[in-house]
Amino acid sequence: MKGPAKRPVSGTKFEIPENVTNITQTLKRKGFEAFLIGGCVRDLFLGNKPKDWDVTTNAIPDQIMAAFEKTFYENDYGTVGVVNEDTADETLKVIEVTPYRIESVYSDKRRPDSVTFSKNLEDDLKRRDFTINAIAYDCEEQKTVDLYGGLADLSVGIIRAVGKARERFAEDALRTLRAVRLSAQLGFEIEQETKKAIAEEARGLGQISKERIRDEFIKVIESDRPAEALTLARDLGLLKFIIPDIEKGQGVKQNQAHSFDVWTHLLKTLSHAAKKEMALPVRLAALFHDVGKPDTRRWSEEKKDYTFYGHDVVGARITAKILKDLRFPNDLADKVVKLVRWHMFFSDTEQITNSAVRRLVMNVGKDNVWDLMNVRACDRIGTGRPKESPYRLRKYHSMIDEVMRDPISVGMLKIDGARIMDVIKEPPGPRIGFILHALLEEVLDDPKKNEPEILEKMAINMAGLSEVELKKIDVGAKEKKEEEEERVVKEIRKKNWVE
Ligand code: ATP
Ligand code: MG
Repeated sequence: MKGPAKRPVSGTKFEIPENVTNITQTLKRKGFEAFLIGGCVRDLFLGNKPKDWDVTTNAIPDQIMAAFEKTFYENDYGTVGVVNEDTADETLKVIEVTPYRIESVYSDKRRPDSVTFSKNLEDDLKRRDFTINAIAYDCEEQKTVDLYGGLADLSVGIIRAVGKARERFAEDALRTLRAVRLSAQLGFEIEQETKKAIAEEARGLGQISKERIRDEFIKVIESDRPAEALTLARDLGLLKFIIPDIEKGQGVKQNQAHSFDVWTHLLKTLSHAAKKEMALPVRLAALFHDVGKPDTRRWSEEKKDYTFYGHDVVGARITAKILKDLRFPNDLADKVVKLVRWHMFFSDTEQITNSAVRRLVMNVGKDNVWDLMNVRACDRIGTGRPKESPYRLRKYHSMIDEVMRDPISVGMLKIDGARIMDVIKEPPGPRIGFILHALLEEVLDDPKKNEPEILEKMAINMAGLSEVELKKIDVGAKEKKEEEEERVVKEIRKKNWVE
């Protein structure tokens, strides 16, 4: 995969947090071996901040638990979580300590049937997926144990299987996707033999649990090169076991407004979302927004062009299915589905009304509306169209701000009709409404008056007035309310530079 491969820094002395070295030192003091291993070592040599810290040791779970004050052990793989309560750094709160392991048969191609602990580091390195993930680092001696040439591969940016590639992918097909994920995250190339073996064993991915696939897929999408990674996954035959629906867009020509087929357009849209460092839901919506196009394409004799009516509705349904299939959490899936469903919103600020914008905000949800704007921005770039004109964009943003602002109404008051009836001892009737409006006028003049006790006192005073007097105040209040509305809208427009 093309991209700037970061070269390992020279020397092997790193600044390692005390929460980590405490663990390796404690284990050693008790007579055990202890090494850092996996992603954290890889990150240290690349000069990146590790996302988590993994320790490997010849101690077994009981011995690890006995060595530390607070631990938990809730899995079948021997991994003990050592808890650091004295740190605010999320990456240090739990450090996973795992005994050296030998993995035996993977009869279902998913998980080893059993896990056997070992006394030798070599056994543990042998079971790891890639050479760059199989470098053990001794913090105290500042030395590596690098039996498979991982440092050399790190320095040239290569992902290479440990041992016989084909066998390793046959053992656990998730490794095929992990190779693509790592290449996307690091900008590394997959070595030729390893690549060939991935293609040969790709089918195995069909037997891997969706949860494991999802976790790697998310890392691909969140990487700097998600489009390249998905293209590679397609070329290696992996993509159809991850998101088969997306492959249907290949070769699906669009109408004259589009220069790319659906597949290319979706990848370009995703690329832009990644370039702009957008959050996961926007990236996913960028990738899926036109997934309904292949199923809805029709030739229109009248237009002499293709149409895709309803592709937003169909696309939302397909997106929901994809995300459910990959066991995405409901809240994230709902959000992405909404973004896909409403991505076709009409945004011509010359023609659009506030009520159309209000309906859109209601449909997609207040929390999602800005993400929807982001999806639209990526969509335009992915189509090869230039950015929306800055003025129109600002104008549209302003309209959204305007419809989303809190309405100016008696609902803003820290008192309601029921409470007023209570304090002035009057039955329901128009007088209560007049008093509410009169109070609103007072509060618009001086927001400090919006306090329950002050409002109650004012209500009692107003209750002494006749209905005619109250009505007069009410008319004044309505005018004041309109003035205030106008003022707020003006302010929003000014803020958005559209006045
Ligand atoms: P990240 O930085 O994203 O956490 P990572 O390499 O640490 O990347 P993990 O899934 O946390 O990825 O795995 C930790 C280590 O465990 C890997 O570096 C690798 O040595 C080993 N490993 C993980 N999954 C597999 C697998 N399926 N087969 C073999 N080894 C694996
Ligand atoms: Mg890790």
